[in-house]
Amino acid sequence: MADVCQWHAEYLKPQFPEMLDAMHEVRDILENEKSKYVQTKEKALSTVKRMREKEQKVNLQDLLKLYDSHGITPDLLVAEGLDVKVPGDFFSQVAALHEKSEAAAKTEKAEKLDLGDVPETGILYYDDYLHIDFESEVLAVVGNHIVLKETAFYPTSGGQLHDIGYLEGPNRLNVLDTFKQDKVIVHKVDSEPIGWKPGIVVKGHVDESRRRQLAQHHTVTHIINGVCKKVLGNHIWQAGAEKTEEKGRLDITHYDSLDQKQLDEIERRANRIIADAIPVESMMLPKDEAEKRFGFRLYQGGAIPGHSLRVLRIADLDTEACGGTHLRNTSEAVRIIILGTKKIQDGIVRVEYVAGNRAKAIFDADMDQLARVMDVLGSTDPSTLEKSCQDIFGLWKSLRKAGSKVNSAPEEQRPAILEEVIATAKASPAFAALERFRAIGRPKNLEDVAAGSGIVIARPHEHLQSSSAAFKVQKEHLGRTLLRFLGEIDTWLAELGA
Ligand SMILES: [Zn+2]
Repeated sequence: MADVCQWHAEYLKPQFPEMLDAMHEVRDILENEKSKYVQTKEKALSTVKRMREKEQKVNLQDLLKLYDSHGITPDLLVAEGLDVKVPGDFFSQVAALHEKSEAAAKTEKAEKLDLGDVPETGILYYDDYLHIDFESEVLAVVGNHIVLKETAFYPTSGGQLHDIGYLEGPNRLNVLDTFKQDKVIVHKVDSEPIGWKPGIVVKGHVDESRRRQLAQHHTVTHIINGVCKKVLGNHIWQAGAEKTEEKGRLDITHYDSLDQKQLDEIERRANRIIADAIPVESMMLPKDEAEKRFGFRLYQGGAIPGHSLRVLRIADLDTEACGGTHLRNTSEAVRIIILGTKKIQDGIVRVEYVAGNRAKAIFDADMDQLARVMDVLGSTDPSTLEKSCQDIFGLWKSLRKAGSKVNSAPEEQRPAILEEVIATAKASPAFAALERFRAIGRPKNLEDVAAGSGIVIARPHEHLQSSSAAFKVQKEHLGRTLLRFLGEIDTWLAELGA
Protein backbone atom coordinates (compact mmCIF):
# COMPACT_ATOMS: atom_id res chain seq x y z
CA MET A 1 0.00 0.00 0.00
CA ALA A 2 2.76 2.43 0.95
CA ASP A 3 4.56 1.57 -2.30
CA VAL A 4 1.48 2.54 -4.29
CA CYS A 5 1.44 5.90 -2.49
CA GLN A 6 5.14 6.31 -3.28
CA TRP A 7 4.57 5.74 -7.05
CA HIS A 8 1.69 8.16 -6.94
CA ALA A 9 3.72 10.86 -5.21
CA GLU A 10 6.56 10.44 -7.72
CA TYR A 11 4.15 10.72 -10.61
CA LEU A 12 2.59 13.89 -9.18
CA LYS A 13 5.93 15.43 -8.23
CA PRO A 14 5.86 18.17 -10.91
CA GLN A 15 2.56 19.60 -9.58
CA PHE A 16 2.78 18.64 -5.90
CA PRO A 17 6.42 18.28 -4.82
CA GLU A 18 5.32 18.41 -1.16
CA MET A 19 3.72 14.97 -1.53
CA LEU A 20 7.06 13.20 -1.72
CA ASP A 21 8.25 15.05 1.39
CA ALA A 22 5.25 13.71 3.28
CA MET A 23 5.85 10.09 2.32
CA HIS A 24 7.39 9.11 5.64
CA GLU A 25 4.23 10.36 7.40
CA VAL A 26 2.08 8.43 4.98
CA ARG A 27 4.06 5.28 5.78
CA ASP A 28 3.56 5.88 9.49
CA ILE A 29 -0.17 6.37 9.14
CA LEU A 30 -0.53 3.24 7.03
CA GLU A 31 1.55 1.16 9.48
CA ASN A 32 -0.59 2.48 12.31
CA GLU A 33 -3.85 1.63 10.54
CA LYS A 34 -2.56 -1.84 9.73
CA SER A 35 -1.59 -2.62 13.31
CA LYS A 36 -4.92 -1.25 14.59
CA TYR A 37 -6.68 -3.58 12.18
CA VAL A 38 -4.64 -6.61 13.32
CA GLN A 39 -5.18 -5.75 16.99
CA THR A 40 -8.94 -5.34 16.56
CA LYS A 41 -9.13 -8.66 14.80
CA GLU A 42 -7.13 -10.45 17.49
CA LYS A 43 -9.22 -8.89 20.23
CA ALA A 44 -12.43 -9.89 18.46
CA LEU A 45 -11.24 -13.49 18.13
CA SER A 46 -10.28 -13.74 21.80
CA THR A 47 -13.64 -12.23 22.85
CA VAL A 48 -15.45 -14.82 20.77
CA LYS A 49 -13.26 -17.60 22.17
CA ARG A 50 -14.03 -16.54 25.74
CA MET A 51 -17.75 -16.50 24.99
CA ARG A 52 -17.56 -20.00 23.52
CA GLU A 53 -15.68 -21.35 26.54
CA LYS A 54 -18.32 -19.95 28.87
CA GLU A 55 -21.04 -21.34 26.57
CA GLN A 56 -22.51 -17.87 26.73
CA LYS A 57 -25.93 -17.16 25.25
CA VAL A 58 -25.82 -14.19 22.86
CA ASN A 59 -28.93 -12.04 22.78
CA LEU A 60 -29.80 -9.34 20.26
CA GLN A 61 -28.38 -6.50 22.38
CA ASP A 62 -25.04 -8.36 22.59
CA LEU A 63 -25.07 -8.96 18.84
CA LEU A 64 -25.64 -5.28 18.11
CA LYS A 65 -22.95 -4.17 20.55
CA LEU A 66 -20.40 -6.72 19.31
CA TYR A 67 -20.92 -5.61 15.74
CA ASP A 68 -21.20 -1.89 16.31
CA SER A 69 -18.39 -1.40 18.84
CA HIS A 70 -16.01 -4.25 18.07
CA GLY A 71 -16.67 -5.05 14.42
CA ILE A 72 -17.58 -8.66 15.23
CA THR A 73 -20.12 -9.89 12.67
CA PRO A 74 -22.84 -12.44 13.50
CA ASP A 75 -21.25 -14.68 10.81
CA LEU A 76 -18.02 -14.79 12.77
CA LEU A 77 -19.89 -15.89 15.92
CA VAL A 78 -21.70 -18.62 14.00
CA ALA A 79 -18.42 -19.76 12.41
CA GLU A 80 -16.94 -20.05 15.91
CA GLY A 81 -19.76 -22.36 16.92
CA LEU A 82 -21.80 -20.00 19.10
CA ASP A 83 -25.55 -20.35 19.43
CA VAL A 84 -26.76 -17.18 17.74
CA LYS A 85 -30.10 -16.11 16.33
CA VAL A 86 -29.73 -13.30 13.79
CA PRO A 87 -32.87 -11.32 12.95
CA GLY A 88 -33.51 -10.67 9.27
CA ASP A 89 -33.33 -6.91 9.74
CA PHE A 90 -30.08 -7.00 11.72
CA PHE A 91 -28.32 -4.33 9.66
CA SER A 92 -31.24 -1.92 9.71
CA GLN A 93 -31.23 -2.30 13.52
CA VAL A 94 -27.53 -1.40 13.49
CA ALA A 95 -28.33 1.65 11.36
CA ALA A 96 -31.12 2.59 13.80
CA LEU A 97 -28.51 2.89 16.58
CA HIS A 98 -27.12 5.88 14.73
CA GLU A 99 -30.38 7.54 13.82
CA LYS A 100 -31.14 9.10 17.19
CA SER A 101 -29.54 12.42 16.36
CA GLU A 102 -31.52 12.61 13.11
CA ALA A 103 -34.88 11.88 14.68
CA ALA A 104 -36.35 15.40 14.29
CA ALA A 105 -38.91 14.20 11.75
CA LYS A 106 -39.92 10.91 13.41
CA THR A 107 -43.63 10.17 13.35
CA GLU A 108 -44.01 8.25 16.60
CA LYS A 109 -43.72 9.82 20.03
CA ALA A 110 -42.21 7.68 22.76
CA GLU A 111 -44.97 8.51 25.27
CA LYS A 112 -48.60 7.68 24.63
CA LEU A 113 -51.39 9.96 25.86
CA ASP A 114 -54.54 8.48 27.33
CA LEU A 115 -57.01 9.97 24.85
CA GLY A 116 -59.91 7.66 25.66
CA ASP A 117 -62.04 6.41 22.81
CA VAL A 118 -61.69 9.12 20.16
CA PRO A 119 -62.35 8.36 16.48
CA GLU A 120 -59.90 8.86 13.60
CA THR A 121 -59.29 12.58 12.95
CA GLY A 122 -60.75 14.08 9.77
CA ILE A 123 -58.02 15.56 7.54
CA LEU A 124 -58.49 18.98 5.95
CA TYR A 125 -55.02 19.43 4.42
CA TYR A 126 -55.27 16.89 1.59
CA ASP A 127 -57.17 18.95 -0.98
CA ASP A 128 -55.47 22.29 -0.67
CA TYR A 129 -52.23 23.13 1.14
CA LEU A 130 -53.43 26.72 1.58
CA HIS A 131 -56.56 25.63 3.44
CA ILE A 132 -55.24 27.05 6.70
CA ASP A 133 -58.35 28.44 8.46
CA PHE A 134 -61.01 26.05 9.75
CA GLU A 135 -63.60 25.36 12.44
CA SER A 136 -64.03 22.11 14.32
CA GLU A 137 -65.41 20.44 17.40
CA VAL A 138 -63.20 19.60 20.39
CA LEU A 139 -63.19 15.84 21.08
CA ALA A 140 -60.66 15.56 23.91
CA VAL A 141 -58.51 17.74 26.17
CA VAL A 142 -55.62 16.03 27.98
CA GLY A 143 -53.35 18.48 29.82
CA ASN A 144 -51.94 20.77 27.12
CA HIS A 145 -53.08 18.46 24.33
CA ILE A 146 -56.18 19.05 22.22
CA VAL A 147 -57.89 16.62 19.85
CA LEU A 148 -60.35 17.99 17.28
CA LYS A 149 -62.92 16.21 15.11
CA GLU A 150 -61.07 17.42 12.03
CA THR A 151 -57.97 19.53 11.50
CA ALA A 152 -55.85 21.37 8.92
CA PHE A 153 -52.73 20.99 11.11
CA TYR A 154 -50.26 18.53 9.58
CA PRO A 155 -48.71 16.13 12.12
CA THR A 156 -45.02 15.18 11.73
CA SER A 157 -45.02 12.16 9.44
CA GLY A 158 -43.49 10.84 6.24
CA GLY A 159 -40.35 12.80 7.08
CA GLN A 160 -42.24 16.14 6.92
CA LEU A 161 -42.21 18.34 9.99
CA HIS A 162 -45.46 19.38 11.69
CA ASP A 163 -47.36 22.64 11.35
CA ILE A 164 -47.59 25.36 13.96
CA GLY A 165 -50.25 28.06 14.39
CA TYR A 166 -53.04 28.72 16.91
CA LEU A 167 -56.44 27.52 18.11
CA GLU A 168 -59.08 30.11 19.07
CA GLY A 169 -61.70 29.04 21.65
CA PRO A 170 -62.40 30.15 25.23
CA ASN A 171 -58.84 31.49 25.02
CA ARG A 172 -56.19 31.58 22.29
CA LEU A 173 -53.69 28.72 22.38
CA ASN A 174 -50.54 28.61 20.28
CA VAL A 175 -49.93 25.22 18.68
CA LEU A 176 -46.28 24.28 19.28
CA ASP A 177 -46.37 20.73 17.96
CA THR A 178 -48.73 18.49 16.05
CA PHE A 179 -48.32 14.73 16.08
CA LYS A 180 -50.12 11.53 15.32
CA GLN A 181 -51.08 8.92 17.87
CA ASP A 182 -52.33 5.98 15.83
CA LYS A 183 -54.99 7.62 13.64
CA VAL A 184 -55.65 10.57 15.92
CA ILE A 185 -53.97 13.96 15.38
CA VAL A 186 -52.93 15.72 18.60
CA HIS A 187 -52.23 19.47 18.95
CA LYS A 188 -49.78 20.38 21.71
CA VAL A 189 -50.43 23.93 22.92
CA ASP A 190 -48.35 26.45 24.86
CA SER A 191 -50.69 27.21 27.78
CA GLU A 192 -53.53 25.83 29.84
CA PRO A 193 -56.76 25.34 27.86
CA ILE A 194 -59.05 27.07 30.39
CA GLY A 195 -62.69 26.29 29.66
CA TRP A 196 -61.87 23.94 26.78
CA LYS A 197 -64.01 20.81 26.87
CA PRO A 198 -65.40 18.20 24.48
CA GLY A 199 -68.36 19.44 22.44
CA ILE A 200 -67.39 23.11 21.98
CA VAL A 201 -66.59 24.42 18.50
CA VAL A 202 -63.28 26.28 18.03
CA LYS A 203 -61.33 27.94 15.23
CA GLY A 204 -57.91 26.94 13.96
CA HIS A 205 -55.25 28.80 11.98
CA VAL A 206 -52.11 27.24 10.50
CA ASP A 207 -48.98 29.38 10.13
CA GLU A 208 -48.90 30.06 6.41
CA SER A 209 -45.25 30.74 5.66
CA ARG A 210 -44.05 27.58 7.40
CA ARG A 211 -46.78 25.51 5.70
CA ARG A 212 -45.84 26.92 2.30
CA GLN A 213 -42.12 26.30 2.81
CA LEU A 214 -42.74 22.72 3.98
CA ALA A 215 -45.06 22.04 1.02
CA GLN A 216 -42.40 23.42 -1.34
CA HIS A 217 -39.69 21.23 0.15
CA HIS A 218 -41.97 18.20 0.07
CA THR A 219 -43.13 18.56 -3.52
CA VAL A 220 -39.56 19.28 -4.59
CA THR A 221 -38.52 16.03 -2.89
CA HIS A 222 -40.86 14.18 -5.26
CA ILE A 223 -39.47 16.16 -8.21
CA ILE A 224 -35.85 15.38 -7.29
CA ASN A 225 -36.69 11.71 -6.78
CA GLY A 226 -38.26 11.53 -10.25
CA VAL A 227 -35.43 13.47 -11.88
CA CYS A 228 -32.76 11.28 -10.21
CA LYS A 229 -34.43 8.23 -11.72
CA LYS A 230 -34.22 9.85 -15.18
CA VAL A 231 -30.63 11.02 -14.80
CA LEU A 232 -29.12 8.08 -12.89
CA GLY A 233 -31.30 5.13 -13.85
CA ASN A 234 -34.13 2.93 -12.72
CA HIS A 235 -32.28 1.54 -9.72
CA ILE A 236 -33.08 4.77 -7.88
CA TRP A 237 -35.44 4.37 -4.91
CA GLN A 238 -36.04 6.64 -1.98
CA ALA A 239 -34.19 5.29 1.06
CA GLY A 240 -35.28 8.12 3.36
CA ALA A 241 -36.34 11.76 3.31
CA GLU A 242 -36.77 14.74 5.59
CA LYS A 243 -38.50 18.03 4.92
CA THR A 244 -37.98 20.92 7.32
CA GLU A 245 -38.43 24.66 6.88
CA GLU A 246 -34.69 25.00 6.40
CA LYS A 247 -34.21 22.41 3.64
CA GLY A 248 -35.25 19.15 2.03
CA ARG A 249 -33.22 15.99 2.10
CA LEU A 250 -33.54 12.86 0.00
CA ASP A 251 -31.55 9.66 0.41
CA ILE A 252 -31.45 7.54 -2.74
CA THR A 253 -30.18 4.07 -3.56
CA HIS A 254 -27.13 4.61 -5.76
CA TYR A 255 -23.87 2.67 -5.96
CA ASP A 256 -21.54 5.66 -6.20
CA SER A 257 -21.19 9.26 -5.03
CA LEU A 258 -22.63 11.97 -7.27
CA ASP A 259 -20.23 14.32 -9.02
CA GLN A 260 -20.79 18.03 -9.69
CA LYS A 261 -21.82 17.38 -13.29
CA GLN A 262 -24.57 14.98 -12.24
CA LEU A 263 -25.79 17.41 -9.56
CA ASP A 264 -25.91 20.24 -12.07
CA GLU A 265 -27.88 18.05 -14.45
CA ILE A 266 -30.34 17.05 -11.70
CA GLU A 267 -30.76 20.68 -10.64
CA ARG A 268 -31.23 21.91 -14.20
CA ARG A 269 -33.88 19.29 -14.97
CA ALA A 270 -35.68 19.86 -11.65
CA ASN A 271 -35.88 23.59 -12.39
CA ARG A 272 -37.19 22.73 -15.85
CA ILE A 273 -40.07 20.81 -14.19
CA ILE A 274 -40.87 23.98 -12.20
CA ALA A 275 -40.70 26.17 -15.30
CA ASP A 276 -43.04 23.78 -17.14
CA ALA A 277 -45.75 24.45 -14.50
CA ILE A 278 -46.99 20.86 -14.25
CA PRO A 279 -50.13 20.22 -12.17
CA VAL A 280 -49.57 18.14 -9.03
CA GLU A 281 -52.51 15.69 -8.97
CA SER A 282 -53.75 14.29 -5.68
CA MET A 283 -56.27 11.41 -5.55
CA MET A 284 -57.66 8.87 -3.10
CA LEU A 285 -57.71 5.39 -4.67
CA PRO A 286 -58.45 1.86 -3.51
CA LYS A 287 -55.09 0.20 -2.89
CA ASP A 288 -55.43 -2.56 -5.50
CA GLU A 289 -56.52 -0.11 -8.18
CA ALA A 290 -53.61 2.23 -7.38
CA GLU A 291 -51.13 -0.66 -7.56
CA LYS A 292 -52.59 -1.87 -10.84
CA ARG A 293 -52.36 1.60 -12.40
CA PHE A 294 -49.00 2.76 -11.05
CA GLY A 295 -47.11 -0.34 -9.85
CA PHE A 296 -45.12 -0.83 -6.68
CA ARG A 297 -43.00 2.25 -7.36
CA LEU A 298 -45.81 3.97 -5.46
CA TYR A 299 -44.25 2.87 -2.20
CA GLN A 300 -41.17 5.11 -2.13
CA GLY A 301 -41.75 5.82 1.53
CA GLY A 302 -42.34 2.15 2.45
CA ALA A 303 -45.53 0.07 2.68
CA ILE A 304 -48.74 1.81 3.79
CA PRO A 305 -51.47 0.15 5.89
CA GLY A 306 -55.20 0.48 5.11
CA HIS A 307 -57.37 -0.15 2.05
CA SER A 308 -57.13 3.20 0.33
CA LEU A 309 -54.17 5.30 -0.69
CA ARG A 310 -53.62 8.96 -1.32
CA VAL A 311 -51.68 9.03 -4.54
CA LEU A 312 -49.65 12.01 -5.64
CA ARG A 313 -48.78 12.31 -9.31
CA ILE A 314 -46.56 14.77 -11.19
CA ALA A 315 -47.23 13.84 -14.84
CA ASP A 316 -45.02 10.91 -15.87
CA LEU A 317 -42.16 12.08 -13.67
CA ASP A 318 -43.20 10.71 -10.29
CA THR A 319 -46.17 8.92 -8.73
CA GLU A 320 -46.10 8.08 -5.03
CA ALA A 321 -48.40 7.11 -2.22
CA CYS A 322 -48.00 10.07 0.13
CA GLY A 323 -49.94 11.86 2.86
CA GLY A 324 -47.93 15.11 2.87
CA THR A 325 -49.00 18.67 2.13
CA HIS A 326 -48.28 19.40 -1.50
CA LEU A 327 -48.27 22.29 -3.95
CA ARG A 328 -51.02 22.40 -6.58
CA ASN A 329 -48.58 23.08 -9.39
CA THR A 330 -44.81 22.62 -9.72
CA SER A 331 -44.44 26.33 -10.54
CA GLU A 332 -45.26 27.14 -6.90
CA ALA A 333 -41.87 25.70 -5.87
CA VAL A 334 -40.36 28.84 -7.54
CA ARG A 335 -36.78 27.56 -7.79
CA ILE A 336 -34.58 24.68 -6.67
CA ILE A 337 -31.00 24.97 -5.50
CA ILE A 338 -29.09 21.80 -4.66
CA LEU A 339 -26.97 22.49 -1.58
CA GLY A 340 -24.82 19.39 -1.68
CA THR A 341 -24.51 15.64 -1.61
CA LYS A 342 -22.71 12.97 0.34
CA LYS A 343 -22.51 9.21 0.46
CA ILE A 344 -24.01 8.32 3.83
CA GLN A 345 -23.43 4.57 3.68
CA ASP A 346 -22.58 1.93 1.15
CA GLY A 347 -25.14 2.24 -1.66
CA ILE A 348 -26.99 5.28 -0.25
CA VAL A 349 -26.41 8.84 -1.38
CA ARG A 350 -27.94 11.92 0.24
CA VAL A 351 -28.97 15.03 -1.70
CA GLU A 352 -29.90 18.27 0.12
CA TYR A 353 -31.73 21.16 -1.48
CA VAL A 354 -33.90 24.21 -0.93
CA ALA A 355 -36.90 25.68 -2.75
CA GLY A 356 -39.20 28.69 -2.55
CA ASN A 357 -38.24 31.57 -0.26
CA ARG A 358 -35.27 29.66 1.15
CA ALA A 359 -33.90 29.22 -2.37
CA LYS A 360 -34.60 32.88 -3.14
CA ALA A 361 -32.67 34.00 -0.06
CA ILE A 362 -29.69 31.85 -1.02
CA PHE A 363 -29.90 32.99 -4.65
CA ASP A 364 -29.93 36.66 -3.61
CA ALA A 365 -26.92 36.19 -1.30
CA ASP A 366 -24.99 34.33 -4.04
CA MET A 367 -25.89 36.98 -6.59
CA ASP A 368 -24.73 39.75 -4.27
CA GLN A 369 -21.42 38.04 -3.56
CA LEU A 370 -20.86 37.26 -7.23
CA ALA A 371 -21.52 40.86 -8.26
CA ARG A 372 -19.00 42.15 -5.70
CA VAL A 373 -16.38 39.54 -6.63
CA MET A 374 -16.76 40.54 -10.28
CA ASP A 375 -16.26 44.15 -9.31
CA VAL A 376 -13.02 43.27 -7.51
CA LEU A 377 -11.84 41.56 -10.69
CA GLY A 378 -13.21 44.25 -13.00
CA SER A 379 -15.08 41.57 -14.88
CA THR A 380 -18.49 41.63 -16.52
CA ASP A 381 -18.48 38.05 -17.75
CA PRO A 382 -19.00 35.43 -15.02
CA SER A 383 -17.73 32.66 -17.26
CA THR A 384 -14.19 34.07 -16.96
CA LEU A 385 -14.30 33.99 -13.16
CA GLU A 386 -13.04 30.47 -12.62
CA LYS A 387 -9.97 31.08 -14.78
CA SER A 388 -9.23 34.41 -13.03
CA CYS A 389 -9.35 32.70 -9.63
CA GLN A 390 -7.03 29.95 -10.83
CA ASP A 391 -4.59 32.57 -12.13
CA ILE A 392 -4.64 34.44 -8.82
CA PHE A 393 -4.05 31.23 -6.90
CA GLY A 394 -1.16 30.40 -9.28
CA LEU A 395 0.46 33.82 -8.76
CA TRP A 396 0.01 33.55 -4.99
CA LYS A 397 1.65 30.12 -4.99
CA SER A 398 4.61 31.24 -7.09
CA LEU A 399 5.23 34.26 -4.83
CA ARG A 400 4.75 32.47 -1.52
CA LYS A 401 8.38 31.41 -1.23
CA ALA A 402 9.91 34.04 -3.49
CA GLY A 403 11.15 36.22 -0.59
CA SER A 404 13.14 33.47 1.08
CA LYS A 405 14.38 32.24 -2.29
CA VAL A 406 15.83 35.68 -3.05
CA ASN A 407 17.32 36.10 0.44
CA SER A 408 18.90 32.66 0.59
CA ALA A 409 20.66 33.12 -2.74
CA PRO A 410 24.31 34.26 -2.85
CA GLU A 411 24.57 38.05 -2.64
CA GLU A 412 25.67 38.60 -6.23
CA GLN A 413 22.81 36.51 -7.70
CA ARG A 414 20.02 38.26 -5.80
CA PRO A 415 19.30 41.14 -8.20
CA ALA A 416 18.91 38.75 -11.12
CA ILE A 417 16.60 36.40 -9.21
CA LEU A 418 14.54 39.33 -7.92
CA GLU A 419 14.20 40.73 -11.39
CA GLU A 420 13.03 37.39 -12.69
CA VAL A 421 10.45 36.94 -9.90
CA ILE A 422 8.99 40.39 -10.57
CA ALA A 423 8.99 39.92 -14.33
CA THR A 424 7.14 36.59 -13.94
CA ALA A 425 4.57 38.19 -11.61
CA LYS A 426 3.94 41.05 -14.00
CA ALA A 427 3.52 38.62 -16.90
CA SER A 428 0.85 36.66 -14.99
CA PRO A 429 -2.72 37.17 -16.22
CA ALA A 430 -3.61 37.79 -12.55
CA PHE A 431 -1.51 40.95 -12.42
CA ALA A 432 -4.33 43.07 -13.88
CA ALA A 433 -6.57 41.92 -11.01
CA LEU A 434 -3.89 42.98 -8.55
CA GLU A 435 -3.59 46.44 -10.11
CA ARG A 436 -7.35 46.88 -9.91
CA PHE A 437 -7.31 45.69 -6.30
CA ARG A 438 -4.78 48.44 -5.55
CA ALA A 439 -6.78 51.00 -7.52
CA ILE A 440 -10.03 50.40 -5.57
CA GLY A 441 -8.15 50.95 -2.32
CA ARG A 442 -7.09 47.45 -1.20
CA PRO A 443 -10.43 46.50 0.40
CA LYS A 444 -10.35 44.08 3.33
CA ASN A 445 -14.08 43.29 3.42
CA LEU A 446 -16.29 42.36 0.53
CA GLU A 447 -18.90 44.81 1.88
CA ASP A 448 -16.46 47.62 1.07
CA VAL A 449 -16.72 46.74 -2.62
CA ALA A 450 -19.59 48.11 -4.67
CA ALA A 451 -21.76 45.41 -6.21
CA GLY A 452 -21.38 45.54 -9.98
CA SER A 453 -24.69 46.57 -11.54
CA GLY A 454 -26.66 45.29 -14.46
CA ILE A 455 -25.37 41.72 -14.28
CA VAL A 456 -28.02 39.07 -14.88
CA ILE A 457 -26.95 35.53 -14.13
CA ALA A 458 -29.26 32.53 -14.04
CA ARG A 459 -27.22 30.31 -11.77
CA PRO A 460 -24.80 32.39 -9.67
CA HIS A 461 -24.00 29.54 -7.27
CA GLU A 462 -22.47 27.51 -10.12
CA HIS A 463 -19.94 30.26 -10.87
CA LEU A 464 -19.22 30.69 -7.18
CA GLN A 465 -18.79 26.96 -6.75
CA SER A 466 -16.38 26.45 -9.65
CA SER A 467 -14.37 29.58 -8.78
CA SER A 468 -14.10 28.81 -5.07
CA ALA A 469 -12.68 25.40 -6.00
CA ALA A 470 -9.53 27.24 -7.15
CA PHE A 471 -8.90 28.25 -3.52
CA LYS A 472 -10.31 25.01 -2.07
CA VAL A 473 -12.91 26.88 0.00
CA GLN A 474 -16.72 26.77 0.15
CA LYS A 475 -18.60 29.17 -2.07
CA GLU A 476 -19.76 31.35 0.85
CA HIS A 477 -16.10 32.20 1.49
CA LEU A 478 -15.01 33.00 -2.05
CA GLY A 479 -15.16 36.79 -1.76
CA ARG A 480 -13.29 36.97 1.53
CA THR A 481 -10.68 34.45 0.35
CA LEU A 482 -10.11 36.34 -2.88
CA LEU A 483 -9.41 39.56 -0.97
CA ARG A 484 -7.05 37.76 1.39
CA PHE A 485 -5.02 36.22 -1.45
CA LEU A 486 -4.81 39.52 -3.35
CA GLY A 487 -3.78 41.24 -0.10
CA GLU A 488 -0.96 38.75 0.47
CA ILE A 489 0.26 39.00 -3.12
CA ASP A 490 0.28 42.79 -2.78
CA THR A 491 2.25 42.64 0.49
CA TRP A 492 4.83 40.20 -0.85
CA LEU A 493 5.40 42.21 -4.01
CA ALA A 494 5.79 45.38 -1.92
CA GLU A 495 8.40 43.59 0.23
CA LEU A 496 10.26 42.66 -2.94
CA GLY A 497 10.12 46.30 -3.97
CA ALA A 498 7.80 45.80 -6.93
ZN1 LIG B 1 -44.22 12.64 -0.22
